[in-house]
Amino acid sequence: MSIWLEQPGKKRIGLMGGTFDPVHYGHLVAAEEARYQFVMEKVIFVPASKPPHKSRKDISTPEQRLEMTKIAVSTNPYFTTSDIEIKRAGLSYTIDTVLAMKQVNPDWEIYFITGADVILDILTWKNIERLLRECYFVAATRPGFHLELIECKLDRLSKEALARIKTIEVPALAISSTNIRQRVREDRPIKYLLPDEVEKFIYQNSLYLTASW
Ligand code: NAP
Repeated sequence: MSIWLEQPGKKRIGLMGGTFDPVHYGHLVAAEEARYQFVMEKVIFVPASKPPHKSRKDISTPEQRLEMTKIAVSTNPYFTTSDIEIKRAGLSYTIDTVLAMKQVNPDWEIYFITGADVILDILTWKNIERLLRECYFVAATRPGFHLELIECKLDRLSKEALARIKTIEVPALAISSTNIRQRVREDRPIKYLLPDEVEKFIYQNSLYLTASW
């Protein structure tokens, strides 16, 4: 059963933010669970152009990550993708994305879905207090994640801001992009960790054969 009540006049929309290098079933399950729990009309996957705080130099191109994400979401009518951050280029600040989306769609109530590990760092993000007034956060947790870490690490936030961070448990998030890249490099199977068509794209484009992570 869903835990959220409808708010009249607002469309609840999920923005699934990540590097998606590559997108995998953990991301897809997390987005679907968030959509269900928070009664979202749709979830838009937004691959970051150059995520702030990223130092990996071998990251796949934005176009490749967008293409893999498009392929992965194609079988879910509630899922779509946006190239807003890739078109904007430069560092992908979430506040810029959320404000741009709300300007075009003032009736949207945005839920920014991302990994719980990412949320632990939000105090360093651009305009975080404003961002938490403009949207909710949904932190997707991996098995073994200690929920109390969120309150503990984010204790500088106001009570109101903290209350806008929701969590969901996603057992499938035991899958990780880092592990998939490593498996490809070591010639180990990645089947059943991500959609077949994304797997095909990875091999056809010779992704992840060299490493610097
Ligand atoms: P990341 O380093 O790629 O990921 C960190 C951890 O979170 C990884 O374990 C990752 O798992 C997981 N994760 C990432 N996105 C996820 C998602 N949507 N659902 C579930 N787990 C997820 O994180 P990132 O891509 O740089 O940042 C995530 C989002 O936050 C992006 O949209 C980025 O632009 C935004 N961000 C904004 C700011 C800012 O505005 N200043 C700063 C940092 C990040 P996998 O590796 O398996 O994906």
